Amino acid sequence: MSGAGDGAGRAPRVRYWDFRRYYAAARERVLARLDGVLASGRLVLGPEVERFERAFAAACGAAHAVGVASGTDALVLALRAVGVSAGDEVVTVANTAVPTAAAIRLAGATPVFAEVEESTFLVDASRLEERITPRTRCLLPVHLFGQGADVATLGALARRRGLALVEDCAQACGATVDGRRVGSFGEVGAFSFYPTKVLGGVGDGGMAVTSRGELAGRLRRLRFYGMGPEGIAEEDGVNSRLDELQAAFLAQRLEGLADEVARRREVAAGYAAGLSGVGDLVLPEPGPGRSHQYYVYTVRTARREGLRRRLAERGVETKVNYPVPLHLMPAFARFGGGPGSLPVTERLAGEVLSLPMHPELTGEEVAIVVDEVRAFFTGGRAG
Ligand SMILES: *Cc1c(COP(=O)(O)O)cnc(C)c1O
Repeated sequence: MSGAGDGAGRAPRVRYWDFRRYYAAARERVLARLDGVLASGRLVLGPEVERFERAFAAACGAAHAVGVASGTDALVLALRAVGVSAGDEVVTVANTAVPTAAAIRLAGATPVFAEVEESTFLVDASRLEERITPRTRCLLPVHLFGQGADVATLGALARRRGLALVEDCAQACGATVDGRRVGSFGEVGAFSFYPTKVLGGVGDGGMAVTSRGELAGRLRRLRFYGMGPEGIAEEDGVNSRLDELQAAFLAQRLEGLADEVARRREVAAGYAAGLSGVGDLVLPEPGPGRSHQYYVYTVRTARREGLRRRLAERGVETKVNYPVPLHLMPAFARFGGGPGSLPVTERLAGEVLSLPMHPELTGEEVAIVVDEVRAFFTGGRAG
């Protein structure tokens, strides 16, 4: 691979994400665990899932964890478990991944989009109450990019207004707010193990955590055709099971998660050291009382398109999370107030750019990204 890295047709110099590096280092360990599962002959909802559920609940500071087939399913079943049904409104944000609102629709409910804070990209808890109507049933904050939203304020609001609180923790596994893990503030926390996530699997998977026994029981029924332990269907359910192979992989990855996150934070510190004060860049910073898992490292600049193009030409992969807010997408436009209704969300969509972020990035690669970004703003040429 050429150091010049002119983009077109060549392998990138710095990849946005790369599972192969994780696997190269973990191969022996992973294969031993998967071999154990295959040799056991138990393939679905068996001892590996139970073991992983217990470990995951403990890691979240919750009493119960229920493994499901995806993060989207974790959200849908969480909403259904807390009583959200057709015609209800669920207040969330438009600055999130599509599945947040898709899950609300799958539960039969209507998404209502609240504004976010410019500095954190997260829901503006002080303004969310404006969006509550007599039809509101649930609040669904999103812990975006690896940082916890203001769930302490939202939990108090939900209690005061008699609403449920479900947390979308898909991007922030392990993040804390005032020392407490996300997913433990609301009735249910929903997690995703999609491969790129902080705790990434080798395919789809998800988890719903709760400290309320009756909700855990309901989630277990809903994920398995609505059946109780004796195989009697008690309500409308779905098939949303976690596989034993997936659970075995995830359980071994969970053991090393703290190290992976520590490495993500080192990468973030490298970017912060190299990029603060450069051009009009605004760098991400954990809000007060928050830890940051750096699922992604998202900067802001008015020159986003130019920077993105230049980095692509120089072999640095980037992503835009997210270019179009949900209230402006055809699937959800009828639930929002149209262009201009969420000015902060809409402004962020035009300015955000996510730099390469994964635990296996080398110091050299971080330096390449820093040099290329600096060169763009100073008009110079890196390396
Ligand atoms: C990834 C993600 C989900 C959905 O998870 P899947 O496992 O892909 O279904 C939900 N919400 C957010 C914010 C996500 O990033």
